[in-house]
Amino acid sequence: MYFHGTSRINEQNHLEIGGVDTVDLANTYGTPLYVYDVALIRERARSFRETFKRLNINAQVAYASKAFSTIAMVQLADEEGLSLDVVSGGELFTALQAGFPPERIHFHGNNKSYEELDMAIKYGIGCIVVDNFYELSLIEEVCNANNTNVQILLRVTPGIEAHTHDYILTGQEDSKFGFGLINGQADKAVEIALESQNIVLLGIHCHIGSQIFETTGFLLATERIFTKMKEWKERHGFIPTVVNLGGGFGIRYTADDNPITVSKYVEEIIAEVKKHSDDLSIDIPEIWIEPGRSLVGDAGTTIYSVGSRKEVPNIRQYLAIDGGMSDNIRPALYQAKYEAVLANRVNDEIEETVSIAGKCCESGDMLIWDLPLPKANSNDLLAVFCTGAYGYSMSNNYNRIPRPAVVFVENGEAQLVVKRESYEDLVRLDIPIKTQVIK
Ligand SMILES: *Cc1c(COP(=O)(O)O)cnc(C)c1O
Repeated sequence: MYFHGTSRINEQNHLEIGGVDTVDLANTYGTPLYVYDVALIRERARSFRETFKRLNINAQVAYASKAFSTIAMVQLADEEGLSLDVVSGGELFTALQAGFPPERIHFHGNNKSYEELDMAIKYGIGCIVVDNFYELSLIEEVCNANNTNVQILLRVTPGIEAHTHDYILTGQEDSKFGFGLINGQADKAVEIALESQNIVLLGIHCHIGSQIFETTGFLLATERIFTKMKEWKERHGFIPTVVNLGGGFGIRYTADDNPITVSKYVEEIIAEVKKHSDDLSIDIPEIWIEPGRSLVGDAGTTIYSVGSRKEVPNIRQYLAIDGGMSDNIRPALYQAKYEAVLANRVNDEIEETVSIAGKCCESGDMLIWDLPLPKANSNDLLAVFCTGAYGYSMSNNYNRIPRPAVVFVENGEAQLVVKRESYEDLVRLDIPIKTQVIK
């Protein structure tokens, strides 16, 4: 079993995270419970930032807050000197509520509304990552209405799609995001932005995928962007101040995953940008990156209580827990794999192979297939590792299951940062019909 960050087995044979016994956490806050190892998040943030610093590169490391957007997490990102990506008015609101400096917020999304852009521009957001021509014209309108201007990056689609070890070169750039780099859309967008009185074109952005284990895709994307930059320099004298290469750095969910280290990703990206900048005889632009999963993914652990068991003779043991696709939709959505242990009996002898079922009314609500475990009983605690990214943020109320609470643990102390949803919360927005029946 692989333990992430500060996770370890304590003297009681319990899983401990951040110096706090997870059995105590389950007793205090109930289950299911998301537990975040704050020291591990800090460590990751620092390795990204320190690699840029060590190599003397102007950079912004922006936390892609869609991975886990809550006020406490945004505050932690601020403490660690990160910038912040938001992709909706709601994530922007969360960031502002957390007191995050607007000038370090970047606004993403392929369909930002007038109201969202207006909110961002009124609050003095640092940069809008523009996705399409419609948005360019909306930004003109908003800037005119507010008599102001705004800094932007143009998101381009370099025709490379990366996922784990595979990267696909897509000549036709078939993606809902961004301006096609090869089909002339990016050239047109650069022209429009350079001509605009309201828009300050800071640079170029691309994001090639998620859970990427190698640097090949990032390096190819860099090369393609610089090929275009050469043309733009010659045609318009435009030299980007910023090249943003997005996020997608992979993490280790199971023993099958072997990501390279944070510093290795960053070092190779820097070397590539340097090389192409030299070729173009320009100063190295600021390099921005946008890690989400790699900052928070393996820092999160979900603690569940074991409930019912169903044996299908000679075939399978189903062990059901008190959550499932309502708090972690990734197995159902992407066949995502996880590792888990019994938090209250970590080192007990492995006695059986079970499949972990969620409690939602969907046969597809299976969290883990074929997990070796000690013989688990009801009320044992199951700890599922690496649930920190796209767990809480994708959680939902299917079957009207309340969303779990979230606690941060660090240096032996636990802090509740999101309350558990109550049944009252579930019906808070419901409005009863005016009944016609006279009793
Ligand atoms: C989702 C996303 C990220 C973060 O991706 P991770 O895989 O969580 O690192 C960064 N940038 C953009 C534009 C994204 O859409």
